[in-house]
Amino acid sequence: MAVDSALSSPLGPPACEKDAKALQFVEEMTRSPYAVQERVLAEILSRNSQTEYLRRFKLNGATDRDTFKSKLPVITYEDLQPEIQRIANGDRSPILSAHPISEFLTSSGTSAGERKLMPTIKEELDRRQLLYSLLMPVMNLYVPGLDKGKGLYFLFVKSETRTPGGLLARPVLTSYYKSEHFKTRPYDPYNVYTSPNEAILCADSFQSMYTQMLCGLQERQQVLRVGAVFASGLLRAIRFLQLNWQQLTQDIETGSLSPKITDPSLRECMAKILKTNPELAEFVRQECSKDSWEGIITRIWPNTKYLDVIVTGAMAQYIPTLDYYSGGVPLACTMYASSECYFGLNLNPMCKPSEVSYTIMPNMAYFEFLPHEPNSAGFTRDSPPKLVDLVDVEVGKEYELVITTYAGLCRYRVGDILRVTGFHNSAPQFHFVRRKNVLLSIDADKTDEAELQKAVENASQLLREFNTSVVEYTSYADTKTIPGHYVIYWELLVKDLANSPSDEVLKQCCLAMEESLNSVYRQGRVADNSIGPLEIRVVKSGTFEELMDYAISRGASINQYKVPRCVNFTPIMELLDSRVVSAHFSPALPHWTPERRR
Ligand code: AMP
Repeated sequence: MAVDSALSSPLGPPACEKDAKALQFVEEMTRSPYAVQERVLAEILSRNSQTEYLRRFKLNGATDRDTFKSKLPVITYEDLQPEIQRIANGDRSPILSAHPISEFLTSSGTSAGERKLMPTIKEELDRRQLLYSLLMPVMNLYVPGLDKGKGLYFLFVKSETRTPGGLLARPVLTSYYKSEHFKTRPYDPYNVYTSPNEAILCADSFQSMYTQMLCGLQERQQVLRVGAVFASGLLRAIRFLQLNWQQLTQDIETGSLSPKITDPSLRECMAKILKTNPELAEFVRQECSKDSWEGIITRIWPNTKYLDVIVTGAMAQYIPTLDYYSGGVPLACTMYASSECYFGLNLNPMCKPSEVSYTIMPNMAYFEFLPHEPNSAGFTRDSPPKLVDLVDVEVGKEYELVITTYAGLCRYRVGDILRVTGFHNSAPQFHFVRRKNVLLSIDADKTDEAELQKAVENASQLLREFNTSVVEYTSYADTKTIPGHYVIYWELLVKDLANSPSDEVLKQCCLAMEESLNSVYRQGRVADNSIGPLEIRVVKSGTFEELMDYAISRGASINQYKVPRCVNFTPIMELLDSRVVSAHFSPALPHWTPERRR
């Protein structure tokens, strides 16, 4: 379709008029981030001026930046916990937001072992939808012809619960996929999925994955892009294919759906899609039964132009495995978002993963940046932090993201550390550096140092009766196998060799650690099958001293040396692994239910 030249974009020639409008919107937003941010803040503060929260800080109706910054404190989730608990318990008064809280979004970030509850309001769905609507117009600038085929995306809904006051609590993507925005989205030739809504919306993860894979196999020639939200999710789909290709190919061969798919609406939907195709079945069977699965993605879906998965942040650990299975097709990281707020998008999505920068869209929320000084002692009442506005960040510097949202979070620390890489027009672009305090992560789980410490302490109670203690420990997220799993290296002090802990006891220690980890970890183990059993590797006594010697030989100071609680540097891993005397895996699943413990 010819595009009106008045709508052409500095980002490149748009693929169609709809794209031209989206790109023009990106241009407008990024050309005047200062004015957009000023408007956003004024809107948020004026509509919420009568909320309990803003009244508490005596803004008295002011909507300007200076008053806002001088009166409102920078906070974390823990500071808001009492207000959130009241909303969860059913208090419908305007506590944080003048608009009614429509539901809670359950973050993968945790507080006291449970997922954080992020209040949201109905209109936030429009804002999320708006950001989604910008992704394909940008992608179409780099990859032509995406309207000639489909996307094979593995998308899932997860379990939802209700708070004591009756509000739904569920992950942001579950909320989005179940919304009319997604379910009744208008046809867009550039954004057609192989997965029918019924498969995406099926709450049973096996049936959902099975039917999404089956549809993807059936339409293998039409598939132009393969994706999931995070890299770990796409690898889980590959693993699923490894485990289930026999049944899948049988279904394709006979045209009849496996009896394992029991959901009636899904069966009805698949009955219309599934066709007998013995040739395709034979092809898939041959590919899947080969010894090597190298390049399996492009062997089965030969027209794949890119993989659409987030491989920035903790997900970077999966890049080599994805390259192996895809034969090296480009990896596209398109957006940066969270339960609290959707932040922005990658305007150059076909760049290398190490070069990904996200442009924060100034219309999504009011953004501030806390200069990140890794070794600073923290902030006190007398030396409050000096936050920088979106337009004032400096290239090369690192910041922690702080947001003020339409749903009522005010100067809220997200916990993500970002580095400024440059600007698009006047809007800064950010490299995602890491999430603060995350030691271990396999999928959505995020385990920090304090949680790991607590888990080791709890597990080591089981060693007491053997007169044994854990003298040192460190950890490692092993993602060589799918699903990945936590490895904890333990150096033990066994005081009574005749009564040292057995394999069975150490296995129970693995389970005790898992029981102590947060609910996102346990959900990954139990419901999502995205994390494998935790492993304890017992190392020879003296190993951690060797580790220190090694660090000192590489320049660490003896006085300041601290045992790293997580390792991923190959020589250190090799040293540890060469000293392993025994390895033990968790023998069972830890406890997990969708209900919160508190
Ligand atoms: P959640 O609160 O569970 O929705 O998780 C949101 C968090 O996931 C963000 O605050 C980031 O730490 C992480 N995240 C989201 N998008 C990206 C991305 N594109 N790259 C790296 N990390 C991301």
